Amino acid sequence: MTLFWFIKYIEDVFFKHSCLMCSCTIKEQPKLCEICLLDLPKLSLPKKGVNLLLRPDINRLFKKVKFDSLFAALWYQEPNSIWLSKLKFNNKIYFRHVLIQIIQSQINIASKHENWIWPDMIIIMPLHTRRFSMRGFNQVEQVWREALLTLPGFDRSLLTEEVLKRTKYTKAQTNLNAKQRHKNISSAFTVKGDVNGKVIAIVDDVITTGTTINEVSDCLKAAGANHVLAWATCLTPLQK
Ligand SMILES: [Zn+2]
Repeated sequence: MTLFWFIKYIEDVFFKHSCLMCSCTIKEQPKLCEICLLDLPKLSLPKKGVNLLLRPDINRLFKKVKFDSLFAALWYQEPNSIWLSKLKFNNKIYFRHVLIQIIQSQINIASKHENWIWPDMIIIMPLHTRRFSMRGFNQVEQVWREALLTLPGFDRSLLTEEVLKRTKYTKAQTNLNAKQRHKNISSAFTVKGDVNGKVIAIVDDVITTGTTINEVSDCLKAAGANHVLAWATCLTPLQK
Protein backbone atom coordinates (compact mmCIF):
# COMPACT_ATOMS: atom_id res chain seq x y z
CA MET A 1 0.00 0.00 0.00
CA THR A 2 1.48 3.36 -0.96
CA LEU A 3 1.73 6.07 1.70
CA PHE A 4 -1.12 8.01 0.05
CA TRP A 5 -3.52 5.08 0.26
CA PHE A 6 -2.35 4.20 3.75
CA ILE A 7 -3.09 7.73 5.02
CA LYS A 8 -6.42 7.69 3.22
CA TYR A 9 -7.29 4.34 4.75
CA ILE A 10 -6.42 5.53 8.28
CA GLU A 11 -8.41 8.73 7.70
CA ASP A 12 -11.42 6.80 6.54
CA VAL A 13 -11.36 4.30 9.35
CA PHE A 14 -10.65 6.64 12.26
CA PHE A 15 -11.48 10.20 11.32
CA LYS A 16 -13.71 10.88 8.34
CA HIS A 17 -14.87 9.35 5.11
CA SER A 18 -13.67 10.94 1.93
CA CYS A 19 -14.43 10.41 -1.74
CA LEU A 20 -11.98 8.00 -3.34
CA MET A 21 -11.50 10.33 -6.32
CA CYS A 22 -11.75 13.94 -5.17
CA SER A 23 -11.22 13.49 -1.41
CA CYS A 24 -14.22 15.62 -0.47
CA THR A 25 -15.86 14.59 2.80
CA ILE A 26 -18.74 12.16 2.48
CA LYS A 27 -20.94 10.44 5.02
CA GLU A 28 -20.26 6.78 4.45
CA GLN A 29 -17.55 4.15 3.85
CA PRO A 30 -14.77 4.73 1.31
CA LYS A 31 -16.95 5.53 -1.66
CA LEU A 32 -17.46 8.22 -4.27
CA CYS A 33 -19.24 11.52 -3.86
CA GLU A 34 -22.26 12.09 -6.09
CA ILE A 35 -20.32 14.26 -8.54
CA CYS A 36 -17.54 11.72 -9.07
CA LEU A 37 -20.13 8.95 -9.41
CA LEU A 38 -21.76 10.99 -12.20
CA ASP A 39 -18.40 11.51 -13.93
CA LEU A 40 -17.54 7.82 -14.33
CA PRO A 41 -17.82 6.15 -17.77
CA LYS A 42 -21.12 4.48 -16.91
CA LEU A 43 -23.19 2.68 -19.52
CA SER A 44 -26.49 4.38 -20.18
CA LEU A 45 -29.49 2.30 -21.19
CA PRO A 46 -30.52 2.03 -24.85
CA LYS A 47 -33.41 4.20 -26.07
CA LYS A 48 -35.81 1.27 -25.93
CA GLY A 49 -35.58 -1.12 -23.03
CA VAL A 50 -32.76 -2.21 -20.78
CA ASN A 51 -30.88 -4.68 -22.97
CA LEU A 52 -27.53 -3.08 -23.84
CA LEU A 53 -27.32 -5.28 -26.96
CA LEU A 54 -29.90 -2.89 -28.43
CA ARG A 55 -27.23 -0.19 -28.49
CA PRO A 56 -25.49 -0.48 -31.89
CA ASP A 57 -22.13 0.60 -30.44
CA ILE A 58 -22.33 -2.24 -27.93
CA ASN A 59 -23.79 -4.84 -30.26
CA ARG A 60 -20.78 -4.25 -32.52
CA LEU A 61 -18.46 -5.52 -29.77
CA PHE A 62 -19.63 -9.10 -30.21
CA LYS A 63 -19.22 -11.34 -33.26
CA LYS A 64 -21.57 -13.96 -31.84
CA VAL A 65 -24.12 -13.55 -29.09
CA LYS A 66 -25.49 -16.67 -27.40
CA PHE A 67 -27.04 -14.85 -24.45
CA ASP A 68 -30.38 -13.02 -24.61
CA SER A 69 -29.75 -9.77 -22.83
CA LEU A 70 -26.86 -7.71 -21.49
CA PHE A 71 -26.53 -5.46 -18.49
CA ALA A 72 -23.24 -3.82 -17.47
CA ALA A 73 -22.42 -0.90 -15.23
CA LEU A 74 -19.33 0.69 -16.78
CA TRP A 75 -16.94 0.82 -19.68
CA TYR A 76 -13.65 -0.83 -18.77
CA GLN A 77 -11.69 2.40 -18.56
CA GLU A 78 -9.69 4.28 -15.98
CA PRO A 79 -10.18 4.78 -13.13
CA ASN A 80 -12.51 1.80 -12.68
CA SER A 81 -10.28 -0.56 -14.69
CA ILE A 82 -7.53 0.14 -12.16
CA TRP A 83 -9.86 -0.54 -9.22
CA LEU A 84 -10.96 -3.83 -10.78
CA SER A 85 -7.47 -5.05 -11.47
CA LYS A 86 -6.22 -4.05 -8.01
CA LEU A 87 -9.08 -5.98 -6.51
CA LYS A 88 -8.53 -9.01 -8.76
CA PHE A 89 -4.76 -9.31 -8.56
CA ASN A 90 -3.88 -7.68 -5.24
CA ASN A 91 -7.10 -8.26 -3.30
CA LYS A 92 -7.36 -4.54 -2.51
CA ILE A 93 -10.79 -4.76 -0.99
CA TYR A 94 -10.71 -1.00 -0.47
CA PHE A 95 -12.06 -0.72 -4.01
CA ARG A 96 -14.86 -3.20 -3.40
CA HIS A 97 -17.11 -0.59 -1.75
CA VAL A 98 -16.84 1.74 -4.70
CA LEU A 99 -17.62 -0.96 -7.26
CA ILE A 100 -20.59 -2.07 -5.15
CA GLN A 101 -21.82 1.54 -5.02
CA ILE A 102 -21.62 1.88 -8.83
CA ILE A 103 -23.27 -1.48 -9.57
CA GLN A 104 -26.11 -0.76 -7.15
CA SER A 105 -26.62 2.68 -8.60
CA GLN A 106 -26.84 1.27 -12.16
CA ILE A 107 -29.13 -1.61 -11.13
CA ASN A 108 -31.38 0.90 -9.40
CA ILE A 109 -31.70 2.88 -12.64
CA ALA A 110 -32.23 -0.19 -14.88
CA SER A 111 -34.62 -2.03 -12.55
CA LYS A 112 -37.03 0.91 -12.56
CA HIS A 113 -37.54 0.41 -16.32
CA GLU A 114 -40.69 -1.48 -17.32
CA ASN A 115 -38.64 -3.93 -19.44
CA TRP A 116 -36.33 -5.00 -16.62
CA ILE A 117 -36.79 -8.58 -15.50
CA TRP A 118 -35.37 -10.23 -12.42
CA PRO A 119 -34.18 -13.73 -13.34
CA ASP A 120 -35.22 -16.97 -11.60
CA MET A 121 -31.61 -17.60 -10.68
CA ILE A 122 -28.41 -15.55 -10.46
CA ILE A 123 -25.10 -17.36 -10.90
CA ILE A 124 -21.79 -15.68 -10.17
CA MET A 125 -19.14 -16.78 -12.69
CA PRO A 126 -17.32 -19.61 -10.94
CA LEU A 127 -13.55 -19.96 -10.79
CA HIS A 128 -11.89 -23.34 -11.25
CA THR A 129 -11.00 -24.78 -7.82
CA ARG A 130 -7.29 -24.55 -8.69
CA ARG A 131 -7.57 -20.86 -9.63
CA PHE A 132 -9.66 -20.22 -6.50
CA SER A 133 -7.06 -21.79 -4.23
CA MET A 134 -4.25 -19.83 -5.93
CA ARG A 135 -6.10 -16.51 -5.70
CA GLY A 136 -7.88 -17.21 -2.43
CA PHE A 137 -11.11 -15.50 -3.45
CA ASN A 138 -13.47 -15.00 -6.36
CA GLN A 139 -13.26 -11.31 -7.26
CA VAL A 140 -16.67 -11.32 -8.96
CA GLU A 141 -18.31 -12.80 -5.90
CA GLN A 142 -16.57 -10.33 -3.56
CA VAL A 143 -18.29 -7.44 -5.29
CA TRP A 144 -21.57 -8.77 -6.65
CA ARG A 145 -22.71 -10.87 -3.68
CA GLU A 146 -22.73 -7.83 -1.39
CA ALA A 147 -24.00 -5.53 -4.13
CA LEU A 148 -27.05 -7.75 -4.61
CA LEU A 149 -27.64 -8.79 -1.01
CA THR A 150 -27.68 -5.20 0.21
CA LEU A 151 -30.05 -3.99 -2.51
CA PRO A 152 -33.34 -3.02 -0.83
CA GLY A 153 -35.99 -5.68 -1.47
CA PHE A 154 -33.59 -8.14 -3.13
CA ASP A 155 -34.80 -11.73 -2.97
CA ARG A 156 -31.80 -13.61 -1.49
CA SER A 157 -33.00 -16.94 -2.83
CA LEU A 158 -32.14 -15.80 -6.37
CA LEU A 159 -28.41 -16.09 -5.67
CA THR A 160 -27.57 -19.70 -6.32
CA GLU A 161 -24.37 -21.60 -5.67
CA GLU A 162 -23.22 -24.97 -6.91
CA VAL A 163 -25.38 -24.84 -10.05
CA LEU A 164 -22.54 -24.12 -12.45
CA LYS A 165 -19.05 -25.55 -12.03
CA ARG A 166 -15.87 -24.68 -13.87
CA THR A 167 -14.58 -28.18 -14.47
CA LYS A 168 -11.73 -27.41 -16.90
CA TYR A 169 -8.71 -25.39 -15.81
CA THR A 170 -8.24 -22.68 -18.42
CA LYS A 171 -5.59 -20.06 -19.16
CA ALA A 172 -6.47 -16.40 -18.58
CA GLN A 173 -8.27 -15.19 -21.73
CA THR A 174 -6.63 -11.74 -21.77
CA ASN A 175 -3.73 -12.43 -24.14
CA LEU A 176 -5.44 -14.92 -26.44
CA ASN A 177 -6.90 -14.22 -29.88
CA ALA A 178 -10.54 -15.03 -30.71
CA LYS A 179 -9.85 -18.59 -31.90
CA GLN A 180 -7.59 -19.36 -28.94
CA ARG A 181 -10.16 -17.91 -26.52
CA HIS A 182 -12.85 -20.16 -27.92
CA LYS A 183 -10.65 -23.28 -27.74
CA ASN A 184 -9.45 -22.39 -24.25
CA ILE A 185 -12.93 -21.97 -22.79
CA SER A 186 -14.67 -24.73 -24.77
CA SER A 187 -16.32 -27.34 -22.49
CA ALA A 188 -14.98 -25.54 -19.40
CA PHE A 189 -18.31 -25.54 -17.54
CA THR A 190 -20.72 -28.16 -16.23
CA VAL A 191 -24.27 -27.57 -15.02
CA LYS A 192 -24.92 -29.34 -11.72
CA GLY A 193 -28.39 -28.09 -10.83
CA ASP A 194 -31.87 -27.91 -12.32
CA VAL A 195 -32.05 -24.98 -14.73
CA ASN A 196 -34.89 -26.31 -16.84
CA GLY A 197 -37.19 -23.57 -18.15
CA LYS A 198 -35.45 -20.93 -16.03
CA VAL A 199 -34.32 -17.39 -16.75
CA ILE A 200 -30.75 -17.23 -15.50
CA ALA A 201 -28.41 -14.27 -15.01
CA ILE A 202 -24.71 -15.05 -15.17
CA VAL A 203 -22.50 -12.43 -13.57
CA ASP A 204 -18.90 -11.61 -14.53
CA ASP A 205 -16.49 -8.76 -13.87
CA VAL A 206 -15.35 -7.83 -17.37
CA ILE A 207 -16.86 -8.90 -20.70
CA THR A 208 -14.52 -8.40 -23.65
CA THR A 209 -15.35 -10.61 -26.64
CA GLY A 210 -18.17 -12.47 -24.88
CA THR A 211 -16.50 -15.87 -25.46
CA THR A 212 -16.81 -16.99 -21.84
CA ILE A 213 -20.39 -15.77 -21.42
CA ASN A 214 -21.31 -17.42 -24.74
CA GLU A 215 -19.85 -20.72 -23.57
CA VAL A 216 -21.78 -20.52 -20.29
CA SER A 217 -24.99 -19.61 -22.17
CA ASP A 218 -24.59 -22.61 -24.47
CA CYS A 219 -24.00 -24.84 -21.49
CA LEU A 220 -27.02 -23.53 -19.54
CA LYS A 221 -29.31 -23.68 -22.57
CA ALA A 222 -28.17 -27.24 -23.38
CA ALA A 223 -29.27 -28.08 -19.82
CA GLY A 224 -32.71 -26.56 -20.48
CA ALA A 225 -32.39 -22.89 -19.42
CA ASN A 226 -34.92 -20.70 -21.17
CA HIS A 227 -33.11 -17.36 -21.23
CA VAL A 228 -29.62 -16.28 -20.21
CA LEU A 229 -28.98 -12.71 -19.12
CA ALA A 230 -25.35 -11.54 -19.04
CA TRP A 231 -24.57 -9.14 -16.21
CA ALA A 232 -21.15 -7.57 -15.81
CA THR A 233 -19.33 -4.85 -13.94
CA CYS A 234 -17.60 -3.64 -17.12
CA LEU A 235 -17.56 -3.97 -20.88
CA THR A 236 -14.30 -3.55 -22.75
CA PRO A 237 -14.65 -0.91 -25.48
CA LEU A 238 -13.46 -1.72 -29.01
CA GLN A 239 -9.77 -0.95 -29.54
CA LYS A 240 -9.41 1.93 -31.97
ZN1 LIG B 1 -15.64 12.96 -5.41
